[in-house]
Amino acid sequence: MTHHRIFHAALALFALTTLLLSSVVFGQTSSKASDQADSPVSARARAIHDSAIIVDTHADTPQRFLDEGFDIGSTDPNDVGHVSLDKARRGNLAGEFFSIWVDPETNQGHFARHTFDLIDSVYEQAARHPDRMMMAFSVADIERAHQQHKLAALMGIEGGHSIENDIHLLRDYYRLGVRYMTLSWSNTNEWADSSGDINDVKVQHHDGLTGFGKQVVLEMNRLGMMVDISHVADKTFWDTIAVTKAPVIASHSSARALDSHPRNMTDDMLRAVAKNGGVVQVNFYSGFLDEDFRKAMEAQAKDQAAAVHQYEDQLKAQGKPVAYVDRDRIEREWMAKIPRPPLKLLIDHIDHIAKVAGVDHVGLGSDFDGVSGATPQGIDSAADLPKITQALLDRGYAAEDIKKILGGNLLRVFATVERVSREESVVPVQTR
Ligand SMILES: [Zn+2]
Repeated sequence: MTHHRIFHAALALFALTTLLLSSVVFGQTSSKASDQADSPVSARARAIHDSAIIVDTHADTPQRFLDEGFDIGSTDPNDVGHVSLDKARRGNLAGEFFSIWVDPETNQGHFARHTFDLIDSVYEQAARHPDRMMMAFSVADIERAHQQHKLAALMGIEGGHSIENDIHLLRDYYRLGVRYMTLSWSNTNEWADSSGDINDVKVQHHDGLTGFGKQVVLEMNRLGMMVDISHVADKTFWDTIAVTKAPVIASHSSARALDSHPRNMTDDMLRAVAKNGGVVQVNFYSGFLDEDFRKAMEAQAKDQAAAVHQYEDQLKAQGKPVAYVDRDRIEREWMAKIPRPPLKLLIDHIDHIAKVAGVDHVGLGSDFDGVSGATPQGIDSAADLPKITQALLDRGYAAEDIKKILGGNLLRVFATVERVSREESVVPVQTR
């Protein structure tokens, strides 16, 4: 989930007129752009792609399950979603970490309840499609699902506020199958600073992780839950690196050297993750890949904020709530006004991280279904993942390295986190 909630509740009437207008103005550009991006995938690239175990570490599809009643078995050709069982199969996606993201504003006072509802929504989808999807909780489960040609469904909690400052709740989430937690989302919580509001003087910050925050990291190490440093403030990152006993992941983060968004990772951070043995999973969101896209978003921000307020006031006057589906549709309309970057930019980020941190420390964290359609040209869903393999091959990457990027690195880190958990859980024999 990206942080452009400012656009979430844009105006109804105004957006409709703008949509009509922008589809006329930009319609031609985007069809031309997608023609260029529809480069065929060679037999060699396809063979490499199909021999890999591909794991994506971030998709916001559970919002759709819960709020939209979306069925992952859908084959609706008009569905603009990034993830379905059909799209996953076409892209040879073996494992998806479904994001359990609780909007801290709209769920104030009941974070845990909404966390449980989202977890339930993933299980319900797996129960509906037992022939094509299974819940997975370990590296061994992912491999088993892959052999059985089923999508391995994993879960990561996006934002430490979900634990409501309660270590028992953290353990309960682990027991329900959650295998990573992002220490903060765009909001600073009571124990970890976020990059999303680090410059907001109204927010009470902690200079990184609090003492309790450090305990949370150590408990995650003990449980075998991967520690995710996407979204966190820089100081939180460094505190985490200093305290963790297991490799960390950035479940969906790109490189700051190429796009100076504070949510992206500096080269020093990339090197620190390499030293820690972890992995940085590149985010596909255009605003994190393309400096021009990001600036265009920022340029829109003021108009959009005004529009948001107008829309909200309208609904308030009518006594109506703002629905997720409407917010998502309106947000897509705003995003669609900005030209999509070429696929090359996504590959540039992978390449940069591979060069700075090493090819053992980079992977894929798409942010599918969390970016309102703002992905690079040619990447319209999980079905397009083979294009990434083709592009890496074109850049001279060896087959073995491509397979590491597609999922091998993540599986290595996950296995190490499992091993550290076993070691940390050994209770010393008491001698009397
Ligand atoms: Zn996110």
